Amino acid sequence: PSMSANNFSRNSHQHHPNQTKGDFFARKQKIEQQRKNLPIAAVERRLVEEVRNNDTLIIVGETGSGKTTQIPQYLFKGGFCRDGGIIGITQPRRVAAITVAKRVSEECGVPLGQKVGYAIRFEDVTSGLTKIKYMTDGLLLREALLDPYLSKYSVIIVDEAHERTIHTDVLLGLLKNVQKARSKCISEAVNTDHNNSNNGHASEGRIDNQNDGILKPCQAKKYHPLKLIIMSASLDARVFSEYFGGARAVHVQGRQFPVDIFYTHKPETDCIDAALITIFQIHLEEGPGDILVFLTGQEEIESVERLIHERLRQLPECNRKLLTFPIYSSLPSEKQMKVFMPSPAGYRKVILATNIAETSVTIPGIKYVVDPGLVKARTYDPKMGVDSLIIVTTSKAQALQRSGRAGREGPGKCYRLYQESFFEKLTDSTLPEIKRCDLSNVVLQLKALGIDDVINFDFIEKPDRTAIVNSLWSLYLLGAVTEENKLSDVGYQMAKLPLDPVYSKALIVASQFGCLKEMLICVAMLSVESIFYAPREKLEESRNALKSFASPDGDHLTLLNVYRAADEFFQKNKTVNSEEKAEKNLRKWCKDNYINSRSLKHARDIHSQILRNVEQMGLRVTSCEDDMLLFRRCLAASFFLKAAMKQPDGVYRVTLSGLIVQIHPSSVLFRAKPECIIFNELVHTNHSYVRNVSRIDYLWLIELAPHLYALQD
Ligand code: ADP
Ligand code: MG
Repeated sequence: PSMSANNFSRNSHQHHPNQTKGDFFARKQKIEQQRKNLPIAAVERRLVEEVRNNDTLIIVGETGSGKTTQIPQYLFKGGFCRDGGIIGITQPRRVAAITVAKRVSEECGVPLGQKVGYAIRFEDVTSGLTKIKYMTDGLLLREALLDPYLSKYSVIIVDEAHERTIHTDVLLGLLKNVQKARSKCISEAVNTDHNNSNNGHASEGRIDNQNDGILKPCQAKKYHPLKLIIMSASLDARVFSEYFGGARAVHVQGRQFPVDIFYTHKPETDCIDAALITIFQIHLEEGPGDILVFLTGQEEIESVERLIHERLRQLPECNRKLLTFPIYSSLPSEKQMKVFMPSPAGYRKVILATNIAETSVTIPGIKYVVDPGLVKARTYDPKMGVDSLIIVTTSKAQALQRSGRAGREGPGKCYRLYQESFFEKLTDSTLPEIKRCDLSNVVLQLKALGIDDVINFDFIEKPDRTAIVNSLWSLYLLGAVTEENKLSDVGYQMAKLPLDPVYSKALIVASQFGCLKEMLICVAMLSVESIFYAPREKLEESRNALKSFASPDGDHLTLLNVYRAADEFFQKNKTVNSEEKAEKNLRKWCKDNYINSRSLKHARDIHSQILRNVEQMGLRVTSCEDDMLLFRRCLAASFFLKAAMKQPDGVYRVTLSGLIVQIHPSSVLFRAKPECIIFNELVHTNHSYVRNVSRIDYLWLIELAPHLYALQD
């Protein structure tokens, strides 16, 4: 096969050597052995003491040293759940919450969901028995809405704090308040009880919070003092320590073998091709050891996986012993766990990962890292009010974390698919997400938590004022915030739904329009990635398949058609088959119709969850049957913030921002180009594209969103 070699130059950046070797995949006793071998095991007792002595503790430790999996177990053993409190550990990423919880339940020798469990949006695998609960940072924020004191937790660990996701940042501010309020509850209880017990009963009455009026009156309920642990992989603990009033920080020494870093001689133009060449170069020329490749997302991972298999077929039989394992957030969790399985003898694993493998999950056996130096990141343009995902270069800190993954079990190699001079130009670290994304959701959540003055909230790092003001403005347009800048009743309802404010609003609007049944489906389908499956080699067939669902009115109705057709197929099947068989047949149906069956399954799960949510809220779930005009009017009434008008040259102008966009080729309206559209998503590649588009009438906007559109003309 024709394959040109990438030219790499050797470089002197090295990680510090040390030693360990462990068999990471034997069961039971082996697991015990592994646990003992983790760098963190040596300091177990000291760590537990530190937590006992400090209400807030910052733990910094190299990736893979055992922080996430071990510390909760140490604290459990150390008695921190004795009062009935539980240990909560937040992760920025779903995949990490799931895979780590599975691992820890295995280490504890208990079924998942009992002593050890996890909870992420739309999925709760915990029970009354759960003592160690892994969850996403966003989920804990949501829990605070229902339980402002987070009273069931005796310890909360904010893990991967260096990632500085928007939820982590908000959570830090919130936890600071909760911790203070809980101490105050306890001391007041102690005073009124005139006894010195450490676990007093909080008295009735309002507990004022020094920072803000965040917490509602304290109920007569037993509160534990809250232990707060901030964990981070980056060495810079100062920012966290300062934020928590000079909290104590401890460092856990990791182990690292030297990693040789290679750079390309020339800039690479096609990073997928460069990655492929490098993978095969390693596979054919280097000794045993698995390869970890950092890619930007599901699509890129899928295409690299396909290309690897294509190229493997061209190799002689003896060189084909290469197995691929993708890992990214929307992958079903059974498949995510596969990356942890050891490769069969003689085979080499290639793990194709998003930056989830950078610090969140540690996969054993990696000796080679391929790093194109790119990452998908959220960005926000406050002037345009546009939130989007774009591909950007990594920071130096990220590049170092990535290369470090090659040196955990022995000396390794890292291939950076860019020039050394380019590395020097990278920024030192990434800008916290709160400074680069749309804040409507966060502002809504904070307001629902009773923090009205969001601008003066004690953030670890203040977001831009314009970004806050813009989100208040869009929340006002959605009716969530009143003219006096207070949360409205609708706003409170919106905050309770586990959805973007716009989607929550859509459900509320739809219940008034009498088409909530349709909107629930629509929102569930919009919440998952790539419903349609269009492999490059079968583009024609997949397009034809799409035609049978396509609606001339746009993607929303098309998604509705797909869901309904699938559901009808499934329900009919269930009358003659077992549930299991019907599920299986549904997967086959998906395959035949070029529908991504796991995306559909995910949408069905989301649908049943949000159906439960809206029923609890007392919304009327009625159907508009075949009155699609009504449904489209409801779409306009819901998504009016994102409307666009066709321009004479065929491009679209977004009414609110003035941004020029095109309809994405995947949309059913790509060719039809109606005069006026609403859309849900904006993607930037070389052009600005809008996705999930529907045709509407401009007059509807004036009629249904007069507060915005009647003024404009
Ligand atoms: P840290 O949080 O310090 O980065 P972790 O606690 O995540 O470290 O990982 C500790 C060890 O546990 C690593 O050696 C990792 O390979 C192993 N590990 C974590 N999850 C799994 C899993 N699902 N299967 C096998 N090993 C795992
Ligand atoms: Mg970790």
